[in-house]
Amino acid sequence: MIYSPEKYKIADVPMQPFIDSEEIWDFINKTESTPEKVDEVIAKSLAKNRLSLAETAILINATDSASIQKIKEGARTLKKQVYGERIVLFAPLYIGNLCTNNCTYCGFRTDNKKQKRTTLDFPEIVSQVESLQDNGHKRLILVYGEHPRYNPEFIAETVKTVYKVKKGRGEIRRVNINAAPLSIEGFRTVKESGIGTYQIFQETYHQETYKKVHLSGQKADFNNRLTALDRAQEAGIDDVGIGALFGLYDWRYEVLALVRHVNHFEAAYRVGPHTISFPRIQNASELAIDKNHIVADEDFTKLVAILRLAVPYTGMILTAREPERIRKEVLEFGVSQIDGGTNIQMGGYSKENANDQDLDMEQFEISDTRSLGEVIEELVEHDYLPSFCTACYRLGRTGEHFMEFSVPGFIKRFCGPNAMLTMAEYLEDYATPELKQKGYELIDRKIVEMAKTEKTTALLGKLEKIKNGERDLYF
Ligand code: SAM
Ligand code: SF4
Repeated sequence: MIYSPEKYKIADVPMQPFIDSEEIWDFINKTESTPEKVDEVIAKSLAKNRLSLAETAILINATDSASIQKIKEGARTLKKQVYGERIVLFAPLYIGNLCTNNCTYCGFRTDNKKQKRTTLDFPEIVSQVESLQDNGHKRLILVYGEHPRYNPEFIAETVKTVYKVKKGRGEIRRVNINAAPLSIEGFRTVKESGIGTYQIFQETYHQETYKKVHLSGQKADFNNRLTALDRAQEAGIDDVGIGALFGLYDWRYEVLALVRHVNHFEAAYRVGPHTISFPRIQNASELAIDKNHIVADEDFTKLVAILRLAVPYTGMILTAREPERIRKEVLEFGVSQIDGGTNIQMGGYSKENANDQDLDMEQFEISDTRSLGEVIEELVEHDYLPSFCTACYRLGRTGEHFMEFSVPGFIKRFCGPNAMLTMAEYLEDYATPELKQKGYELIDRKIVEMAKTEKTTALLGKLEKIKNGERDLYF
């Protein structure tokens, strides 16, 4: 048991432990995987059922190439059935790299004296956001080190600043956050600024490993981090993102622990996390990790497919940490959000040689440095529908009362058409003439695929309005 219930209470109710490493290892070590069992588990997932820990362990333990191919094929099918071809696009914006923690995998850790420390001031935030808007972005995730300066009031101010920036036809319609765990009060303050998702990764769910890689600072407290998103829920933030940093410990353990974390959310709040992230460790300034658990490409692609099958309705985020070829493969397994035109250097979006990476000014090295336009072009060529949609969050369609995937036909009625509308805005305002042509051809094909309904007529009407200069139209 990892909790001290006296210490970790949410609104005076002691929390029940939900990560038990012995239990997780038992599932891995004692679950037999046969090709027949793999087939049964995939069939259950394709019927859009959540998998149990034992069922997920059957997929994890499948090592023959035929079963692995079936797992990947299953994830592809599920993606097509549940998500359609939409891929939501966003960009990260690093606000400050001051940090009082000592995470051995991170270039920002306090002991790294090579890191050039800086915090964007408000005019600098405005200029970064203007550059992002000039590229066509509508959704950002703001990222912060962990430091007393980045308190809830500061985070809330930065969010409000971002929403106020409007350059030309540009605007940011959804601001997500990746920042240190807060108190319930702190989460309330940040919620009031109008954030979308609050994202915190546990990094590793294995307590001993956690201790080894978090040498000092508040983040060294495993339980404080594990319970952070429960405090967020208590503060009314029902849109949260979880994740594990792959490469710190055995990937099989981390996958099961992520599923266990999802179970906890469902049991406690009747809704799972909005998104799961699975960053893989990249090179960083003064990186100081033990390399025993580095995840090979074959295992990484397999684990993404397993996560897709295990939690069919949870959004999955893939970032520019991964190179183009891996991004291409795992997009097929049901990734729903990717970043594009990413630059994680402090102040990097307004720099001239934005593609040069200086590891002493950023958290880690990224592998995909393509512009947003290039990423969109590739998506369009592979028949994916790029989306900047923010409708659900702005209409309050979040949390327990609303789960887009449990409402029959929701994606067809709302997500697909909204993807086309936001894509049309991008094509009108930011695309090259060639991309504009290819993009509208894609939209036309998708409209033909839609059955002729009242929705098609309404969609065509809205698309015409966008061509005539109206913006921010959605269902
Ligand atoms: N300070 C906040 C925190 O620790 O939660 C923000 C986190 S950081 C800016 C975002 C995430 O990047 C971390 O949670 C971690 O999973 C990931 N990360 C850190 N170092 C990394 C590396 N070398 N390679 C890939 N991802 C890394
Ligand atoms: Fe600081 Fe976060 Fe980096 Fe850890 S991962 S050193 S807390 S910025």
